Amino acid sequence: MAKITLDGIGHAYGPARTDTDYALKPIHHVWEAGKAYALLGPSGCGKTTLLNIISGLVIPSAGRLLFDERDVTRLSTEKRNIAQVFQFPVIYDTMTVAENLAFPLKNRRMPRSLIEARVCEIAAMLDLTGDLNRRARGLTADAKQKISLGRGLVRSDVSAVLFDEPLTVIDPALKWELRSKLKAVHRALDLLMIYVTHDQTEALTFADKVVVMNDGRAVQIGTPADLFERPEHTFVGYFIGSPGMNFLSGRLTGRTMSTEGHALDLDHAYPSLPQDRAVKLGIRPDYATLTAANGLPVKVRRIDDLGRKRLAHVDLGSQPLVVTVPNGMSVEGSDARVSFDPRRTHIYVDEQRVEGIAA
Ligand code: ATP
Repeated sequence: MAKITLDGIGHAYGPARTDTDYALKPIHHVWEAGKAYALLGPSGCGKTTLLNIISGLVIPSAGRLLFDERDVTRLSTEKRNIAQVFQFPVIYDTMTVAENLAFPLKNRRMPRSLIEARVCEIAAMLDLTGDLNRRARGLTADAKQKISLGRGLVRSDVSAVLFDEPLTVIDPALKWELRSKLKAVHRALDLLMIYVTHDQTEALTFADKVVVMNDGRAVQIGTPADLFERPEHTFVGYFIGSPGMNFLSGRLTGRTMSTEGHALDLDHAYPSLPQDRAVKLGIRPDYATLTAANGLPVKVRRIDDLGRKRLAHVDLGSQPLVVTVPNGMSVEGSDARVSFDPRRTHIYVDEQRVEGIAA
């Protein structure tokens, strides 16, 4: 097991003349041994490029990749000592489940007793014990992908295990179960795992830290709680959470933001910003509440009843917001007010969060 250092790693598939030519803009980060990371972002943001650089399928056009202190930037995949799990099962249909799981260990000439013990351990973690003697050919797509996962996890001496959207072929009903299982497996095996997905639930359930990517850039690397409570970039606020964060445009002077002809007093001051600065205020729908009497006046467009909670889609002047409707509150007509939990608001300038000082 190793730590992985991304030392200015970046990649352009063609000539790199400007920043926009990079499919992956240079990133500096250290991924710690034994931790689980997810690379999360929309299609085309550079997740696979980064994963392929780590696996050795792509040689980066900038920077160095270190496994512990060893520079592996130009090493072949075989020499990197990593395990990989892909979107679709990679298994031998004619072999039994046990033989499939044992394969990576047999290849490395491990003693038979150790192989048997490890195969049993991994099969138990993935609920494959009952299938160990069955041929893989007759199994469902879900079971085959579980074998693939098992083959990726069976070696304890790998530098890292890389997963590329491994739950794509899994039945939606089983996804939830397998997601939680993978997390438990990670805790038990203590391996550095890197998991690529565009599904925020998968990323947030699995990872100790999530790397949120947009347009070739790692816009924030943080725990699921960091990403929810303190999005450092408006993209993270918008992309994480369902629905995402609200952003209200206005101008800030001292602790007062003016927006749509109203003045909003904030909990924090932003002395680093000039007076009358154009800003965005970010607030999660969970921390914005519809009220009958207090707060900023809004027009209610519609209310979505999600069973567990109700969300109101409202307009503050020309700006749309999604806010929580408190239990028991009935909404008559379209006139209402909203209030924000002042401890949960954030100020953004040029899409980046600005740290405030408690007033
Ligand atoms: P997806 O979730 O759709 O796989 P991704 O986040 O993994 O997307 P990448 O596959 O890393 O994104 O692609 C990042 C950018 O690099 C995209 O604009 C893509 O078109 C481009 N790209 C990827 N592979 C190549 C290639 N072999 N040659 C040229 N451009 C490429």
